[in-house]
Amino acid sequence: WSDAEVTALRAQFPQLARLIHGKPLVYFDNANTAQTPERVVAAMDRYYRDFNANVARAVHTLGSEATEHYEAARDVIAGFLNAQRREEIVFTSGTTAAINLVAYSFLAPKLQPGDEILVSQMEHHANIVPWQLIAERAGAKVVPVPINQAGELLLPELAALINPRTRLIGITHVSNALGTINPVAEIVALAKTAGVPVLVDGSQAVPHLAVDVQALDADFYVFTGHKLFGPTGTGVLYAKTAHLEAMPPFFGGGEMIRTVSFSGTTFADPPHRFEAGTPNIAGFIGLAEAVRFVQELGIDRIAARESMLCELALVRFQDIPGFRLIGQAKHRAPVFSFVIDGVHAHDVATLLDFEGVAVRSGHHCAHPLMQFYGVPATARASLAFYNTEAEITQFVAAVKKVRERLL
Ligand code: PMP
Repeated sequence: WSDAEVTALRAQFPQLARLIHGKPLVYFDNANTAQTPERVVAAMDRYYRDFNANVARAVHTLGSEATEHYEAARDVIAGFLNAQRREEIVFTSGTTAAINLVAYSFLAPKLQPGDEILVSQMEHHANIVPWQLIAERAGAKVVPVPINQAGELLLPELAALINPRTRLIGITHVSNALGTINPVAEIVALAKTAGVPVLVDGSQAVPHLAVDVQALDADFYVFTGHKLFGPTGTGVLYAKTAHLEAMPPFFGGGEMIRTVSFSGTTFADPPHRFEAGTPNIAGFIGLAEAVRFVQELGIDRIAARESMLCELALVRFQDIPGFRLIGQAKHRAPVFSFVIDGVHAHDVATLLDFEGVAVRSGHHCAHPLMQFYGVPATARASLAFYNTEAEITQFVAAVKKVRERLL
């Protein structure tokens, strides 16, 4: 992308122009929450200003407009993931809610004592804890799939762990802590031979890679809107039609029923069966706008720019004394966990803020992964397509300065 293109693109993100402690903001916390462009905020603003009404209830004009926009958002997401049918897209409040929905509605009714759920050692807690909760009730267990020091999943070990008691495999497409891109298509193919369903956590993948759920053939694919330049409180569950049709509701209430009586209630078809109550209407209108924005930029162009930024960052990091990258996967997104020998990650992140640099520090909701690497916490720099070479330079200078101050 030309410098002019990048400048024009960044102008759509007013947050990026802020000065923090008098320094230009370097927003390297995109894996936590990405920034929202003006047009996403404008789309949500339009809903509240022009056609604020509940969906699927009112026959008046505002009600039909709200419903139209909300359901159009479903079409946009279905297209983005290349789902076969729009009804395969269920709106949730985020990845966490989507995984819990699959855990309680799809898997819990099937779980028997001794059953196993496989999840990788690099999962976010959102793809561990819901499975643990349902496993505990059923007397089943969650079994970790090991990774190597580079932070790559060990496929032969995964294959060896699959057995007749395996009920589901949960795997992240891209690790939020390491940036590793997992070979999810291969994992799904492996699982298929044993008839095991797979849930892919795409939270960190959708901002970086083209995702085609039909090509992946995953049973479930979930992501959260706020990491995809959309608003918080929005999430998506893609599930194959056959699964959704067989799944009982998880939340009960308005909007998810066909008829209700005290002698028995019947439920709406998917996806509405799983969208009880008034949804985050403005949120999904905003998310659809974010997806249109990404589609107009072109996810392949985004990926190409990010791989350039990624390579550049990896080279520049070598200039920082004592800088240790945690996770060195060959196939990766621009998400970098690091430690500075002798310095606590929280101190690094706190002092980096004084240099205008926003990074996250902590365990990244991945305790088992931190235990694997034997570190209490890391600092994490995560980039998006709007980040620049100049920001990487500012980051490297800032980390050097912080290190000198702390040692
Ligand atoms: N999975 C992964 C890989 C994530 O990075 C995150 C967010 N850090 C989540 C799940 C949870 O997403 P949310 O909090 O939006 O539900």
